Amino acid sequence: MLCSVARKQVLYSNRTIGIDSPDKMAKTAKQHVENGVKALKVKVGTGRNEDLARIRAIREAVGSGVPMRLDANQAWDEITAINILTALAEYEIEVCEQPLPYWNFEGLKRVRERSPIAIMADESIFDAHDAFRLASLGAVDYFNIKLAKSAGIHGALKINAIGEAAGIKCMLGGMSESLIGVSAGAHLVCACPNISLHDLDSPFHFAEEPSIGGVDFQPNGTVTLSDAHGHGADVSPEWMEKSKR
Ligand SMILES: [Mg+2]
Repeated sequence: MLCSVARKQVLYSNRTIGIDSPDKMAKTAKQHVENGVKALKVKVGTGRNEDLARIRAIREAVGSGVPMRLDANQAWDEITAINILTALAEYEIEVCEQPLPYWNFEGLKRVRERSPIAIMADESIFDAHDAFRLASLGAVDYFNIKLAKSAGIHGALKINAIGEAAGIKCMLGGMSESLIGVSAGAHLVCACPNISLHDLDSPFHFAEEPSIGGVDFQPNGTVTLSDAHGHGADVSPEWMEKSKR
């Protein structure tokens, strides 16, 4: 008898390493990679020498073959960004997110033209109007879409469509969503192949997860979609009860 079992959709999220000393960040990175994490997102932005030391320490600790995605959170100026990214050319950096302040669209274009590493907009892109301006300028290689800043799924689809038409790939990022928001994001990723990078690890920022169901998120970055109705996540009844005034 033939038996058909639907295969569940699986995504691979990076795990994020918060800004700290090079030694501590390298130790965390090594633990993640030993646990099976396939890509790391690394926060930088306190200064040239410290940032270079962070990346060198992490690469030394995890070895080759694990892509690193940097996030400078608007911390650099143009000269610093070009200087640091040039110095990191050999460190297998997949992309650098928001090297410059959010308003500096032309600066992003100039950094992109000189950087050996791809450039991503995060704080510079909230909606489709930002996406259109960035794409028209040729300012970035990636858009970071977050449902909490893009007017939800409707706005995210517009940004992705502009990116796809302009040859710009997208990342699905997060703003400390619980599993409810992450589950919605994971479904969006599966519907949009142009969203090729996945930064969905915000549930690990919570001391206590307020939701149940939804995606199954493992510490190794594996995100397995639920086949429940909708995106499958709901607010935990225990958490609701506890949170009542
Ligand atoms: Mg960011």
